Amino acid sequence: MITMSPTEMLEPETVIDVRDLVKTYGEGDAAVHALAGINLTIKRGDFVTIMGSSGSGKSTLMNILGCLDVPTSGTYHLDGVDAASLSEGALADLRNAKIGFIFQSFNLLRRTSAVRNVEVPLAYAGLSRRDRRKRAMAALASVGLAGREDHRPNELSGGQMQRVAVARALVTDPAMVLADEATGNLDSKSTEDVIRLLEDLNVAGRTIVWITHEHEVARHSKRRVVLVDGLITVDERIVAVDAPPPLWKPRSATELAVEPIAVEVA
Ligand code: ADP
Ligand code: MG
Repeated sequence: MITMSPTEMLEPETVIDVRDLVKTYGEGDAAVHALAGINLTIKRGDFVTIMGSSGSGKSTLMNILGCLDVPTSGTYHLDGVDAASLSEGALADLRNAKIGFIFQSFNLLRRTSAVRNVEVPLAYAGLSRRDRRKRAMAALASVGLAGREDHRPNELSGGQMQRVAVARALVTDPAMVLADEATGNLDSKSTEDVIRLLEDLNVAGRTIVWITHEHEVARHSKRRVVLVDGLITVDERIVAVDAPPPLWKPRSATELAVEPIAVEVA
C-alpha cells in the first residue's frame, strides 16, 4: 500500500521535469552550447514566462520542451513520460496529446476556415467528424470567435488569427500550452487580448509556459525565468502556483472569458 502525507497529496503534479539539460550544436571548436545545463520543474497550473536576449537559448529550450527536438544530454520528463525513451512516432503522439502550441506567426493554414484550422490537432484523436466539429466550435466560442468559424485567416485581423491559434492550442485539452513569442506580431490592443486569454486559460487550470522578450507579458506571469547564455540566471516566484495570475481580474459578463471546454465525446 502507498501512503502519502497530506502535503504530498496537496502538492500539484509535475508537468515538466528537466534535469541537467544540455544542447550543443556542431562539434569541436565550432560547438555552440545553446543550453549549458538547465534544471527546471514546472507544476500543473503554473504560469511561467521564460525571458532572455536573442541567442540565449529560448527557442532551443522551447523545441525540446515541445518534443520537437531532443537534447544532447540530460533528461526531460513530460507529464511523467521520459521523452528520450520514445521513438519519433511516439514522441509526435505525446506532443499531440499533451501540448498546445502558440507561435509568433500563428501558423494557420491560409486557405482553410477557422474551424478547420482548429480541428487539425484533433485529426489524431480518434474522434468522429461530428465530434471534432463540436469541439472546434466550442473552442472558438471560448476565445470569443463564435460566428467567425467559416472565416479564413485572410479575413481575420492579427489578433483574431492568434485567437484561432489559441483555440487550436486548447482544443485537445493539453497538459500544457507552450507559447513562443505569441504576441510578437501583434499590436498592443491584440497583445492585451491574448494575455487576457492565456490568463483566463490559466485560471481555468491550464499550465502555461510562455517564451517572450516582452516585459509586459512577463508582468502577468506567476513565475519569471531568465536565460543567459544557455543557463537559468533568474527563477522568481511571484505568486503561488494555485493562485490566480498577479494582474488577473475577473471578467464582467460582456468581456471575453474562457470557460473550460466541456464537450462530451460520445
Ligand atoms: P534564442 O531563441 O534565445 O534567440 P536560440 O535557442 O535560437 O536562442 O539559439 C541559442 C544559440 O544556439 C545561439 O547561439 C544560436 O546561434 C545557436 N543555434 C540555434 N540553433 C542552431 C542550429 N540549428 N545550429 C547551430 N547553432 C544554432
Ligand atoms: Mg528564438
